[in-house]
Amino acid sequence: MRTKEITLVGGGLAGCLLAVFLARRRFPVRVFERLPDMRKHRIPAGRSINLSLSTRGIHALKEVGLYREIEKHLVAMPGRMIHDQAGNLLYQPYGRDESAVHFSVERAVLNKILLDAAEAAGTKFFFGEGCEWVDFENRRLLLRRESDDNRRALPFATVIGTDGAGSAIRHAMIEQKGIDCRDEHLPHGYKELAIPPGPDGAPRLEKNALHIWPRGGFMLIALPNRDGSFTATLFLPHSGSVSFRTLTDERAILRFLETEFPDVLPLMANPVHDFLNHPTGTLGTIRCFPWHVADQALLLGDAAHAVVPFHGQGMNCAFEDCVVLDRLLDEHKDLESLYLEFETRRKPDAEAIADMALENYVEMRDSVRDPKFHLRKHIEWLLEERHPGRFIPRYAMVMFHRIPYAVAKNRGDIEARIIDRLSESIERVEDVDLGLADRLVLESLEPLASLTEYNHR
Ligand code: FAD
Repeated sequence: MRTKEITLVGGGLAGCLLAVFLARRRFPVRVFERLPDMRKHRIPAGRSINLSLSTRGIHALKEVGLYREIEKHLVAMPGRMIHDQAGNLLYQPYGRDESAVHFSVERAVLNKILLDAAEAAGTKFFFGEGCEWVDFENRRLLLRRESDDNRRALPFATVIGTDGAGSAIRHAMIEQKGIDCRDEHLPHGYKELAIPPGPDGAPRLEKNALHIWPRGGFMLIALPNRDGSFTATLFLPHSGSVSFRTLTDERAILRFLETEFPDVLPLMANPVHDFLNHPTGTLGTIRCFPWHVADQALLLGDAAHAVVPFHGQGMNCAFEDCVVLDRLLDEHKDLESLYLEFETRRKPDAEAIADMALENYVEMRDSVRDPKFHLRKHIEWLLEERHPGRFIPRYAMVMFHRIPYAVAKNRGDIEARIIDRLSESIERVEDVDLGLADRLVLESLEPLASLTEYNHR
């Protein structure tokens, strides 16, 4: 197997990290990336500028020895700052201590470090050349050079599609191999708006927080950058009375921003211009299966399981895919059984994070405004304190642990029922019936004794 050349289609976050893992194991690896080399060319705006990196992603980067380099570029976010319509602020820490933290990182910075590392490990990159089609019968990729439209057919031994949510490899698998695929479009899209640093370079909002302006049917969020700026993202329905479809002229956009986000509007450099000129991104969930074709092809990262971004897990999950595939390489002698086991292991986790990411949209844009939400969080922390290793809030299981997503979702459902019961007729955490709380936790949640095993697997 080691002598087989592995072709990756897509040199984004997952493709580059996977290339590092594979090249470390001495596989010959080549990557075809549709876009030009981002280390030499400016990549057009529109894709999320910064991302939340959390425990799963950090673990993957540590595995390949890159975390120290990346750490320098991170901004810690130990909590969320909620902005109400009157401009009042409410800071909610993610947990009881500093281990409950995730980090903002610029996508381009991360991708460039990964490109350098993959190249240094021996990967060959072909930039500006995208894959249009896979001919499985003859084991050929149809490639198209973006600069001059030149097309060529290229034989391959095995191909891994790391070409993101719109994956050409996945489309070829659907057409020729009949794999099952549901592409669930979210009726909401997104738009990025810039918040520059203040005149002295100081951040104009609390730097160490994820900022949220929840407004029920829509929301604005902002993640900090190292230079004191923030990247804000407006999530809004595509159509309806307040939507991207209706907000099309300068006055309407300004009125909307003034009404909904009065505290942050003066901090933005050119919000109306950004609104009119930045592309409106689309969001959705890809649920497809199987993810492989014999020993010929595998899907990984967003190509296999794009999720909506509301849990900040798409990249983290894609990085975890790379760790799992790398581990499985120790156990498998042929690619077909490797690919089969990979998809068998990862599919339940991918489904779980897809569902939890959708649920988290409601939490972010709506529930965080509800006083009951804060009570529920405090009850979660209380139970976590009383039952360490047994009660870990679902948000923490997803963000700050490496407990499989499917386990986090199952246990989270049980936890939600416990909290429903305990919060039914109280308004303060001090009034929780501790006897009942202990009984419910002990009855319905097994200890996560294998927690350390999960974390070190
Ligand atoms: P991509 O990063 O999309 O990379 C795919 C690569 O393949 C690209 O370089 C593309 O140019 C290339 N490509 C595409 N088609 C072809 C082709 N036919 N031939 C050759 N090359 C091709 N995740 C988080 O973990 N945390 C976050 O905070 C977060 N925030 C997000 C915010 C937004 C608004 C969005 C949209 C997503 C967010 N995500 C976040 C998700 C994250 O961006 C993705 O999960 C992650 O980028 C997936 O990596 P990937 O390599 O699989 O796909």
